[in-house]
Amino acid sequence: MHVNAGFGRFALLATLALACGFCVATAEAAAPLMRTQAPGFYRMMVGDFEVTALSDGTQPLATDRLLVNVKPEEIRSALAASYLESPVENSDNAYLVNTGRKLVLIDAGSGKLLGPSRGQLRANLVAAGYRPEQVDEVYLTHLHPDHVGGLTDGETPMFPNAIVRAERKDADYWLSKGNMDRAPEQYKRFFAGAMASLAPYIKAGRFESFQGDTALVAGVRAVPTPGHTPGHSSFVVESKGQKIVFWGDLIHVLAVQLGRPTAGIAFDSDVNAAAMQREAALADAAKEGYIVAGAHISFPGAGRVRSAGNSYEWVPLNYTVPH
Ligand SMILES: [Zn+2]
Repeated sequence: MHVNAGFGRFALLATLALACGFCVATAEAAAPLMRTQAPGFYRMMVGDFEVTALSDGTQPLATDRLLVNVKPEEIRSALAASYLESPVENSDNAYLVNTGRKLVLIDAGSGKLLGPSRGQLRANLVAAGYRPEQVDEVYLTHLHPDHVGGLTDGETPMFPNAIVRAERKDADYWLSKGNMDRAPEQYKRFFAGAMASLAPYIKAGRFESFQGDTALVAGVRAVPTPGHTPGHSSFVVESKGQKIVFWGDLIHVLAVQLGRPTAGIAFDSDVNAAAMQREAALADAAKEGYIVAGAHISFPGAGRVRSAGNSYEWVPLNYTVPH
């Protein structure tokens, strides 16, 4: 009985060994695909300030449907020149600026407002070595859901010790129930998202608006760049003669808008004003050579702009490990 059982096991193992003789190569190739990305943070120094780009995620953007003031064949050829096609996987970036005295977050990602491919800012902030409660100030380029949703988790503020600031025209526009009631159906969720995301901060007296060109914490200034939204702002950060300008949503699809700054996006409140701001920002960045960072430029979204005939070229930052 015992012998028979043992022989049975031997026979089974021999059969398996024979079978596996034909499947060794398959077994070696069977490691699962990881389907994850490196932690979404990227560190850079600007003078004495440490700037950390934080990815909130990426999502496919239907450029052929959403870009305006540009012909479909121009979109196609500009994308093809960058080895892209619609839909383009579009980055959502926020930036953490540590001035040494204050920890400033520029934009807050979308939280749970826009689905699981986004809303990764908190995890990446933690991966970058920081905790949400360390953030002193949150500056919003504007109040669209992909920039405000990450301010809260349900009704709980994600950054409990921070003062949140945005330009007054954006606050007045997006926090108005009257404007929401008058808005086309597909844009009502923009208003609702802004209201829900800011509510706990407003309730706690931690939301403050600023007006136009405003000095914020030392080394950080808001400059008005209205068009994409009524109070859209960019943030200029300077330390030790070095400068980075956080563009917010002046650019949505770099591959198209770099050569065609007049091309806008369907979400622009004022397409022509947004285009004027984009043209001015590109011209100034190319002339002055400072670093720019865009909320929707391929992560980490930071680089410089170079004039190239009647167009511009993007020069990504040189990869550097801090030491
Ligand atoms: Zn945006």
